[in-house]
Amino acid sequence: MEKIRRIKTDILIIGGGTAGCLAGIFAKQKAPHLDVIILEKANIVRSGCLAMGLNAVNAHLIDSTPEAYLEYVKKDNYNVVRSDLVLSIGKRLNRMTEVIENLGVPLPRDKDDKYISRSSRSIVMHGEQIKPLISEAVISNGIKVYNRTPVYRLVRDSDDGSITGAIAVNVRTCEVFIVEASAVLVCTGGASGIYRPSNPGLARTKTWYCPYSAGSGLAMGIRAGAEMTSFEMRFVALRTKDVIAPTGTLVLGTRMPQCNARGEKFIDIKEEMLGRKITTAERLLFAIEEHKKGTGPCYVDVSGLNREQYYNLVENYLNMAPSIVLDLLKNPDEQQTHIEVCGSEPYINGGHGMAGFWIDERRRTTLDRFYAAGDVAGGAPKKYITGCFAEAEMAIEDILERFDAIRAYNSDYGSAEKSVKEILMPLGSKGHLNYCEVEERLQKIMEEYAGGSTQNYEVSRDKLMLAKDYLSVLDEKTCLMKAETGHELMRVQDTIDRVLLSRVLIEHMLARQETRWPCYQTRLDFPMRNDLEFKIFINSVMNNGSIKILKRDLNPPYDQLGVN
Ligand SMILES: Cc1cc2nc3c(=O)[nH]c(=O)nc-3n(C[C@H](O)[C@H](O)[C@H](O)COP(=O)(O)OP(=O)(O)OC[C@H]3O[C@@H](n4cnc5c(N)ncnc54)[C@H](O)[C@@H]3O)c2cc1C
Repeated sequence: MEKIRRIKTDILIIGGGTAGCLAGIFAKQKAPHLDVIILEKANIVRSGCLAMGLNAVNAHLIDSTPEAYLEYVKKDNYNVVRSDLVLSIGKRLNRMTEVIENLGVPLPRDKDDKYISRSSRSIVMHGEQIKPLISEAVISNGIKVYNRTPVYRLVRDSDDGSITGAIAVNVRTCEVFIVEASAVLVCTGGASGIYRPSNPGLARTKTWYCPYSAGSGLAMGIRAGAEMTSFEMRFVALRTKDVIAPTGTLVLGTRMPQCNARGEKFIDIKEEMLGRKITTAERLLFAIEEHKKGTGPCYVDVSGLNREQYYNLVENYLNMAPSIVLDLLKNPDEQQTHIEVCGSEPYINGGHGMAGFWIDERRRTTLDRFYAAGDVAGGAPKKYITGCFAEAEMAIEDILERFDAIRAYNSDYGSAEKSVKEILMPLGSKGHLNYCEVEERLQKIMEEYAGGSTQNYEVSRDKLMLAKDYLSVLDEKTCLMKAETGHELMRVQDTIDRVLLSRVLIEHMLARQETRWPCYQTRLDFPMRNDLEFKIFINSVMNNGSIKILKRDLNPPYDQLGVN
């Protein structure tokens, strides 16, 4: 058995991204006497969604109310959202913007000292340095951080099965850690790499969602029996082609129109026809429809920008997507006039979408002592950075409130040691597969049979059943992967996690027999929305390796349906 370093702390945070770092800061500010540890897969200075920086606070209420925010989120998501979670986030959003500003992130203001708005819920941020600033606050608040130390499994209490810690292995040294805590908060974000990325070869890591977000927090929760929700509502980002920069910066930031290859402003035409603003999902759907009609690709027409506006756009992109800047300035004397847009590959994500842990209003998962916040937590789409901060704060508040009651625990050390053996198995294994081969096969299956971008995101029962069969064969092969270094071990474990998440995703997609969120969830064999049967949550729990689907009522107390 490898030498194991056993550490005890009060609060363990898994994942030092947006929510994780802020959770640590909130915990130390509210209870400085408690010990807080963050276990982070990369390095908190530049990890997760904020690694490249951000240029907007996407959820800030300008002359609006939390109730109006809830109404917007409901409408944009066809009425299946956790209203309690969304409202609780809405009540804290603007205070979280202040937290961002207090960290030292510049939020420009106009001459009346008001934030500069991009829309009624979005303000401009000069956030290229946001993650380094957050990480400085983490260190100055006395939080202990273990960088390059990904967590692979959870530790349980031997008496009541509650979660009392996590097992991690340092990528550089292969040192094994078992960290025990009175409460564990998972903040590992969503999952990329499930579907084939749109860029090939060495550019395949140029994805919208962080390429190292393998959804491992979700996977460790699934293995431990936590309930998951709404995986079938995948998130697909509409992005600029190839360099995968955000289109919000273009569409909201410049107000320039989206048009098809013939120059027709198809979004404006649709809005006029429908007599309403289109939803976020429809912005993608209508672009796909143009492709299907033979009038694609689609563009944002920026020919109307003057020199100053054009350079303003360049500056905004410098704050979060520098690669598009090379493209925008490739000929300094000539402005680009049309920027091509397309859909990304689908992601599992609870920050823009609502796939993730099933939690309650206090951000407790269904496993005791185990909390989830940020993109890993389900039920509340459109939470973005301020919503992630808000969830982190709510989780910490609950942990602190009940801390004395949950202080004592008795970890099942024997099971934890078994998990360590299982995690380390690929190191020195005689297996003949490397993780790239398994990852490629996974992405091919998901792309072709589970609604990837080349399939216009559409799925049907028969294709999903094939995906399910192929995945079960692939799942059996994952034990043949070998690793020679700590980094390879991480990639192997990421691949195992992605296969598990894909299996859960397929079950969710099969269970929702309607089309609710176009492109995010389109069933060719059930093309209509069916409010009568499916205005519900599709949830799942894994037990002894098999995935069981549960249906839950849309409204509190979210009873399980079909169970007496
Ligand atoms: C490209 C992009 C642009 C965005 N733009 C905006 C915007 O302009 N405005 C806005 O408000 N919101 C924006 N968002 C949304 C917002 O950034 C996210 O919702 C938010 O940052 C997610 O925070 P998180 O803590 O859940 O995840 P992350 O910040 O991604 O943090 C997850 C952390 O967990 C770590 N981790 C993963 N697995 C493990 C493991 N097994 N063990 C230990 N650590 C692990 C990761 O390395 C990472 O540090 C954007 C998101 C993306 C992806």
